[in-house]
Amino acid sequence: MLDGWIDLRSDTVTHPTPAMREAMARAEVGDDVFGEDPTVRRLEEVAAERMGKEAALFVASGTMANLVSLLTHCGRGDEVIVGDQAHTFLSEVGGMAALGGIHPRPVPNQPDGTLRLEDIEAAIRTEDVHHPRTRLIALENTHNRCMGAALPPDYLRAVRALADRHGLRVHIDGARIFNAAVALRVPAAELARHADTVTFCLSKGLCAPVGSLICGPAAFIREARRVRKMVGGGMRQAGVLAAAGLVALETMVDRLAEDHRRARRLAEGLAEIPGIRIEAHRVQTNIVIFELDPQLPLPEEAFLAALAERRVKILRWGPRRFRAVTHYWIDDTDIDQALRAIAEVVGQAMRGPHLS
Ligand SMILES: *Cc1c(COP(=O)(O)O)cnc(C)c1O
Repeated sequence: MLDGWIDLRSDTVTHPTPAMREAMARAEVGDDVFGEDPTVRRLEEVAAERMGKEAALFVASGTMANLVSLLTHCGRGDEVIVGDQAHTFLSEVGGMAALGGIHPRPVPNQPDGTLRLEDIEAAIRTEDVHHPRTRLIALENTHNRCMGAALPPDYLRAVRALADRHGLRVHIDGARIFNAAVALRVPAAELARHADTVTFCLSKGLCAPVGSLICGPAAFIREARRVRKMVGGGMRQAGVLAAAGLVALETMVDRLAEDHRRARRLAEGLAEIPGIRIEAHRVQTNIVIFELDPQLPLPEEAFLAALAERRVKILRWGPRRFRAVTHYWIDDTDIDQALRAIAEVVGQAMRGPHLS
């Protein structure tokens, strides 16, 4: 419960915890553009270590983290192989093309969030005067639009081998990579090791108010620091934000298992409600995607409004489709209450005037 709401729209709605606010108030700061903010430096060191990379860079958002990474990997006219359901392709305002002249080459995402190796291979450009140059393969872990699916180490290893055969680089949009690590019971570094660069968000399930990190080789991060400045992302006394990020990394990762358990409970509960369609077995992490039966006389807007009257918020996620995400501010009681609210609203629609 957050401000009297059961807000399941996203894990981005999470407020900072009391421990984070405390750390923010006490944070040692300096001018980070001069490299003088000790708290940002510490956060970058801890992040790099968690991902098993040489260095890291603190940026304002996940979108900026991916943009700066892509701008650092690719020049104008270079091509990136990316999932057709990827956040970088669908939900980042076309930044790679608009700001970097980078050409996305979408390949179908499978329901488990992967790109088939043969699809990737077929998308790699040959040396030809007509072709852009393929530079990078971009993956997403966990995969937001694929029900929060976690890409396992074996798959990532196979993509790495394919990339190496063709002289390509690999980037992981790991906005929720800690959810993947917890679900797969491996250290995050085991997932990151198969990529050249990985980004992750502090501001989602980890509850920090703001911020993401780019992790990779030291030379890459040096260049990314210049690109961050170019896109206006050089922040000054950013230590007040980094302080919350350190609390997030130190205390909020292992507890993600609770969010995953609650997401499964929510999915299993939804599966029992007539009028709801869900593949509950697909829920691996904290993202639940479900649909209203097309026959049900309940418009999407009416569904959301009736839930809001019951203090429950979920996100519209396509025609007849909705997303609910569990997080730190959602407890077992909230899950029960959300299920009751959904059952009530859907049940009323089923019995509604249309059928009587
Ligand atoms: C949220 C998200 C991002 C972007 O994060 P913002 O901080 O909202 O810019 C990138 N990739 C994925 C998969 C996400 O879910």
